[in-house]
Amino acid sequence: MQKAPLNWTNTLLFTLTPLAALTLVPWYGLTHGYDTYEVVVFILLMGYCGVSITAGYHRLWSHKSYKAHPFVRFVFALGGACALQNDVLHWASDHRRHHAHVDNNDKDPYSAGLGFWYSHMGWILRHYESGKEDFSNAKDLQKDPIVMWQHRHYLSLVLLMNIALPAFLGWLNGDILGCLLLGGLLRLVLSQHVTWLINSVAHIWGRQTYSDASSARDNPLLALFTYGEGYHNFHHTFQWDYRNGVRWWHFDPTKWFINVCARVGLASDLKRCSPIVIESARLDMQYQRAAQSFNALEGMIHNAEVWRARLETEYEQCKAALQEWARHQQRWYEAKSTQLHEKWSHFEQLKLRDSYREARYRLKLQKQRWEALMQSMPALAGAPA
Ligand SMILES: [Zn+2]
Ligand SMILES: [Zn+2]
Repeated sequence: MQKAPLNWTNTLLFTLTPLAALTLVPWYGLTHGYDTYEVVVFILLMGYCGVSITAGYHRLWSHKSYKAHPFVRFVFALGGACALQNDVLHWASDHRRHHAHVDNNDKDPYSAGLGFWYSHMGWILRHYESGKEDFSNAKDLQKDPIVMWQHRHYLSLVLLMNIALPAFLGWLNGDILGCLLLGGLLRLVLSQHVTWLINSVAHIWGRQTYSDASSARDNPLLALFTYGEGYHNFHHTFQWDYRNGVRWWHFDPTKWFINVCARVGLASDLKRCSPIVIESARLDMQYQRAAQSFNALEGMIHNAEVWRARLETEYEQCKAALQEWARHQQRWYEAKSTQLHEKWSHFEQLKLRDSYREARYRLKLQKQRWEALMQSMPALAGAPA
């Protein structure tokens, strides 16, 4: 098959910058050394680029999972130019195609089906058909004046953020080159590869917690480096949810950042998928996996029919407990919100609250039993029923 023609600008840019970072950064470190100021500039600019991509380019502009104040959008537009990952319009348009045609090697611009290298950065280095400029899926973004302003002045903004800004910060500290190398060059290369890991690693390694319809994986380790974007299976399943790490303890600094913005009035309309839909998807995947491993082991399982009946019964009971919990939760929340109108007497309100708590407790017990059953599935061969 004929290879797509090389994109020379990108090829030179994305091979020379890492080469320069690998040689010049250590050389300057050994000959001149870096001070704390330069390390702090590096860390702050890393975080700034990262969050501009995850909270701005990705969750705000590509997925519209919340609304942001123009000031925040302006800050993200500058941070995105600093990250040098193309302008919002190109990035979001590509990314929407990635979700719409995930794993389709002809249409997904960074299809994981074409391997680690291609999905990581190979797709940027050549003029592939799937990467062709087509903004028909980003008409809404063309109405955003900040997106279009960044689109028009992208190159100037890239130079401003990648050269002028680190040089200025270095001048303040009396060492321009040190800041250019650490806060400019090394930060640029690392922040780019960190983002690309989401297209490569998060489509290869990890768990398919909520769906196996795509190659996207939940990888908590990757979330540590990607500002929370490692929960990629959740993200592909519920792409308009502003969270990627859905549990409160999931490491998702982007989610926390958006939350803080909302609290101070800089973000609004944060979209969340309902817990019952999320939990049902998770339960279905667990059931599907258990049924598969059961089918594979069936001949070796003692009293297989008893275990199969147990699996089916527990699954049905889990689903029923989830429904009950959601129903009682909704009734209790409604009762709470109508409190001011005195529609509910205190007694009725308590009844609804307790029904909800009971349903929540029953769900918890049911889940514990389900988890225990899931853990025993692989060891079923030879186990007494
Ligand atoms: Zn996405
Ligand atoms: Zn993806």
